[in-house]
Amino acid sequence: MKIICIGRNYASHAKELNNPIPEEPVIFMKPDSSLIRNNQPFFIPDFSTDVHHEVELVVKINKLGKHIEKKFAHKYYHEIGIGIDFTARDLQSKMKEKGLPWEKAKGFDGSAPLGKFVPKSTFSDIENINFHLDINGKRVQTGNTSNMLFSIDTIVEHVSKYFTLKIGDLIYTGTPEGVGPVKAGDRLACFIEEEELLAFNIR
Ligand code: ZN
Repeated sequence: MKIICIGRNYASHAKELNNPIPEEPVIFMKPDSSLIRNNQPFFIPDFSTDVHHEVELVVKINKLGKHIEKKFAHKYYHEIGIGIDFTARDLQSKMKEKGLPWEKAKGFDGSAPLGKFVPKSTFSDIENINFHLDINGKRVQTGNTSNMLFSIDTIVEHVSKYFTLKIGDLIYTGTPEGVGPVKAGDRLACFIEEEELLAFNIR
């Protein structure tokens, strides 16, 4: 199982980090050891003092595929969930300056909490799904898939040109604006529409 992540998929978030708007999806990966399931707590690693939350919709692949055409992409996933792409922003900034890969800043243990999934048939329009992140009861990030630079189906098409998609693979589809640091004692709750699908504590 692999975890594919899309960077800078919302113009508003690219802007807040002073990144250019990408012309094609920005892709990176996390190892399976980054996953946290069942609302287990996230422990802030000792190598960072600036771990940021990035709330993202997550697509679960349910069919083997390569070179998937956009018009068939919807057949390759049945469920959509929500997760956090934790990012050690201080490490990532150093790596970006040097032009180095981001893995240590993005793929460390526990950097990918994952919530429950809902069938995509729940949604009348995949390109109009609302989601949000609350920290300690306060809304900090809100997103809607209509604001994605690259739609879920475009992502599936693009990713599958390079990587064979397998059953169980996960795609984190990028974060809207409002990213920021977490601290010990925080409680994060992630919602698709008004349904809470992921909630956990920061230690
Ligand atoms: Zn992200």
